[in-house]
Amino acid sequence: MDKIVALCKRRGFIYPGSEIYGGLSGTWDYGPLGAELKRNIKNQWWQDVVQLREDVIGIDSAVMMNPKVWEASGHLEAFVDPLVECKVCHERFRADNLDQIKEHDKSHKGQATWTDPQKFNLLVKAYLGVLEEKQSQIFLRGEITQGVHVNFKNVLDSTRIKLPFGIAQIGKAFRNEITPGNFTFRSREFEQMEIQYFIKPEEKVGEKWFEYWKSFWMDWYTGLGISKENLRFKNHEEKAHYAREAVDIEYQAPWGWSEFMGIHHRGDWDLSRHEEFSGQNMKFKDLEGAEYLPWDIESSAGVDRSLLFFLSDAYKQEDNRIYLRLHPKLAPIKAAVFPLLANKPELVKTARKIYLDLKSCLMVAWDDRGNIGGRYASQDEIGTPFCITVDFKSLEDEAVTVRDRNTTKQDRIKISGLKEYLNGKIY
Ligand code: ATP
Repeated sequence: MDKIVALCKRRGFIYPGSEIYGGLSGTWDYGPLGAELKRNIKNQWWQDVVQLREDVIGIDSAVMMNPKVWEASGHLEAFVDPLVECKVCHERFRADNLDQIKEHDKSHKGQATWTDPQKFNLLVKAYLGVLEEKQSQIFLRGEITQGVHVNFKNVLDSTRIKLPFGIAQIGKAFRNEITPGNFTFRSREFEQMEIQYFIKPEEKVGEKWFEYWKSFWMDWYTGLGISKENLRFKNHEEKAHYAREAVDIEYQAPWGWSEFMGIHHRGDWDLSRHEEFSGQNMKFKDLEGAEYLPWDIESSAGVDRSLLFFLSDAYKQEDNRIYLRLHPKLAPIKAAVFPLLANKPELVKTARKIYLDLKSCLMVAWDDRGNIGGRYASQDEIGTPFCITVDFKSLEDEAVTVRDRNTTKQDRIKISGLKEYLNGKIY
């Protein structure tokens, strides 16, 4: 993980948040390559679950919501972690994080004493209003889920969608985590990608869709390159307040198996609570005229944790070579274009033309520094799947060398067919 953290900083994937002021614990900023990688993950997700499906539609709801939402959803009461405080130095920890507690105890030579665990609510408070004395307290959303549930009726009324159907959303969530850590894994500001999939409220239907989404997501992550042996399902021993059934997909992170997404059978918990608290009818009316609250099978993935594990799984060190074996769909830069020599105007001119032409449809990089070996190494390290070199022969045969990141093999490709060649390999 140290190598990945260093690579992320050095090459512009991820920086500590507000670093020049000493940082802000639990926040991270994505640099040029990280922003691309994150956007590619989100776009791929959206394409696969919204664009390509007929039964899922997408929304984008507000981060700030009426505080009643969190009362109804149960978060004011139950969105808590157990907190203990060291009586010696007043540092606070999650009571269930025994490794950190042991570590801390060592730093006081075994003399640390602890308060009893207290419930600590993770919702982040904010204040709205222009007059300080009249400001009202709200919460930044602790999960993006509630934006879907409060809009359930709006979606039904403004579309012609019928059960079973899903509402998808990608957006920021905020949690006052007691101990952020493991790089971006546990942050206080992060992004989630979720589908709330609404179904007929019947046990058999629930079982079917729960199993369906479990295998859908396992296939999605392996299809985008994460090795199967580094993924597993983990049933929840303790379920969240809203869940009838819950399973996580975990990744074998350098510090141990860790959750990056959950599939939760939420039943009609959210809709029934919002119906009760808002007084609005949340029922779905089917074609036969029957009215009921549908059940919800939720798929909730962290964008940041997914990104971290895509990176971690892609990091390869082989034969003195470091490369990121990212799936080409996810790679921040799809191809890099090089003139063999920077001081030969005819090579540079042809290479620039190719670069600018490709740039109109793909993220491409330009590099004319140093030798070709160094340029390959630099692109390997950020996961660029293809490097294109314009050499002297190109001026005669109107072809270029395309070098594959994974195999290091080179193909000779006609310039006129380059776009088609790359598109075929990437998508
Ligand atoms: P954990 O047990 O690790 O605190 P959780 O079970 O509370 O996570 P959920 O509420 O199910 O997480 O949230 C769904 C997803 O959102 C998680 O699988 C994870 O990918 C992401 N997520 C949750 N909390 C954080 C966080 N603090 N930092 C980054 N991602 C997070």
